[in-house]
Amino acid sequence: MSDRIAGSKGFAAQVGRALSWSAAYWGFYAAVDYCLSDALPPLLRPAQYVPDSSYWNAGVTAFIAMILGGAILGAAAGWLWNASGNAVAKQRASEPREAKLAGGAGFSVIAVFAGVVGARSGRGVLPLALSLALPVTLAALVLWASLNEGRARRFWSLTNPVTITLALLVRPWLYQDIFPDSPRRWQVIASALALVLIVACSLGLDRIGRRGKTAAGFDFDLRGVRYAAVFLGLLAVAGGFVVRSGQRLIAAGDASNAIGKPNIILIVMDTVRADHTSVYGYDRDTTPNLRRFAAESTLYRNAISAANWTAPSHASIFTGMYTLRHGVRYDVPKNTLGKLPDAVPTLTEVLSRQGYRTAGVVANYAFLSDQLGFSRGFDVYRLALPWMVFEQSLYPSLLREIRRRLLPPVQKESIYVSGEKMTGAALDVLDPLAERQPFFLFVNYMDAHWPRAPPEPFRSLFAAPSQNLSMKQYFGLMVSVNRGERVLTEQERRDLVAAYDGGIAFLDQQLGILFDALRRAGVYDHSLIIVTSDHGEAFGERSLMDHGLSVYQDQVRVPLLIKYPGQREPAEVGALASGVDLYPTVMEAVGAPVGRYLAGLPLDRMSGRTTRAVFAESYPEWEMWNLLPHLRQTKRAIFRDSWKLIQSAKDSQALYDLSADSKENRNVIGEQPQVAAEMEALLSAWQKNLAPVNGPSGIDKGTLDRLKSLGYVQ
Ligand SMILES: [Zn+2]
Repeated sequence: MSDRIAGSKGFAAQVGRALSWSAAYWGFYAAVDYCLSDALPPLLRPAQYVPDSSYWNAGVTAFIAMILGGAILGAAAGWLWNASGNAVAKQRASEPREAKLAGGAGFSVIAVFAGVVGARSGRGVLPLALSLALPVTLAALVLWASLNEGRARRFWSLTNPVTITLALLVRPWLYQDIFPDSPRRWQVIASALALVLIVACSLGLDRIGRRGKTAAGFDFDLRGVRYAAVFLGLLAVAGGFVVRSGQRLIAAGDASNAIGKPNIILIVMDTVRADHTSVYGYDRDTTPNLRRFAAESTLYRNAISAANWTAPSHASIFTGMYTLRHGVRYDVPKNTLGKLPDAVPTLTEVLSRQGYRTAGVVANYAFLSDQLGFSRGFDVYRLALPWMVFEQSLYPSLLREIRRRLLPPVQKESIYVSGEKMTGAALDVLDPLAERQPFFLFVNYMDAHWPRAPPEPFRSLFAAPSQNLSMKQYFGLMVSVNRGERVLTEQERRDLVAAYDGGIAFLDQQLGILFDALRRAGVYDHSLIIVTSDHGEAFGERSLMDHGLSVYQDQVRVPLLIKYPGQREPAEVGALASGVDLYPTVMEAVGAPVGRYLAGLPLDRMSGRTTRAVFAESYPEWEMWNLLPHLRQTKRAIFRDSWKLIQSAKDSQALYDLSADSKENRNVIGEQPQVAAEMEALLSAWQKNLAPVNGPSGIDKGTLDRLKSLGYVQ
């Protein structure tokens, strides 16, 4: 074999051999990297994946670029090592070179890997040394073994492309992607075990391979590696396309009881306050589609969300309980966020047991997560992770580094998946759902939530932006406004509100598309369609900005429209409605028993209910706890008729008459002591009677931080 490449006329052959070795090392490395970073994640985490063709196109392009670039780099490295390695080993230039060409190619893979992990390691010498320990050891072994052909053969079991690739990639993939939430020591143990297993398998296979063979020459065979690389690569790409196009809906249990029952469609427009929608009288026409929808549905004029931010408010919708009872809230001193109580069946679980097929398509990935229990009962639950987030929690993948450079710079709009893609994902699941009714479809849109970057013409529909705030700028502004250090300028307020209204208008356009699709699928008429929001948003009212801060109307008054099955006429209800009413409303519509523990009542279709009280709560939030000490208090509001009493631990009480003072400017507690006393008594009785069902279970801050890594704190 050595005579094949030795000698003067062997130049072309030498180039060929160098490229061949390099292609073997890089081809296998690229195939495994592609499998781990592109093909497997959507399979392992189907809940966190929303189809997006750019994902596949960029991945395949990076895969090809990696093989081509790597092959050239590896061949050059082999060539150089061949030239210099002879000097290191004090050999004559005419000595066999095959081992050195292979060694150089293998070294190039390890060196590039070391570059990726080195660049990512934390600051300081120790983290760098730790992250480079394995690649440096492997690189030294590969180079040293390749200096001598006999040695190269002896160590081939450790220096071949398969062992090197698996040792480099599978180990960090295991602890960063598969066990990201395990304690550090378990990660170290898993990583070490994987390494031992890879080495042991390599040695074992090598022993088996050698049995019966004569140990003459440098005769290791590369065909197996090449076939494996080609096979893995094709399998990964093909698998990717199957995942991309496939919609797998698990059939629900016994469906016979459900036949003839209405479909339930729940649409939550995250962060939309009622008074910024034209269907509730806003002077900007932000919601033309909802106005049309209102012509054949019931509009609840006084709908109040049970809480002022996403997790507790959605939990109230899905359990029919107030926060005090379901416990999905921060407990800052204990450093936990409560999750949906296991003992309470969610809306989805009840419907599933009734024979409904269930699908969720959700843009608020940070809080409506599996960890908090929101996916319970769903046959399909798509948490739409944008590129930027999907990329973040992963092992050191060269393929991803290349792909990142192939894509345009990350735009701030990719913090949440845009409404257009959410609608697309909802339409994808709608077809299989419509084939076997009844079904429950839940869609959550984030286009009105910060950073509110709807596409044009919506971004500039109500005012062209004078500047685009970065995440950091926005956060700085919010904190200083909420601390009372400054107020929003007229220009800032105008900008923020224009983007918000544009976001709502874009979302409304998406609702129009969704409604049309429901009509086309023939399910529009026979469905109970609920459109609402989980909380509002402040733009400087009472020196507050954003949400999760108070129980004033800007935070808790939300739109609520319900189209009952077969409804063709508009209706309007002025009586109070709450997020906790949606669960019993759905139960009644599907003929399921309404649990006695529920706080809400089934909503009326045509008229108002007689007097009853509804409540809204605000608990302090993690980041704000430290940043805004004056907000470290629980606030509660009780609503009855047009009265609203706000009680906070520190600020004492305020009473408002919303019929005369919808913006809560005039505290009338001094003028109406009787009303205030009655309301206070009701509120304290309500508090006393509600025992938390959850106990101390929750998720810790680290888990949540990883999920909401693109939240406010950067
Ligand atoms: Zn929300």
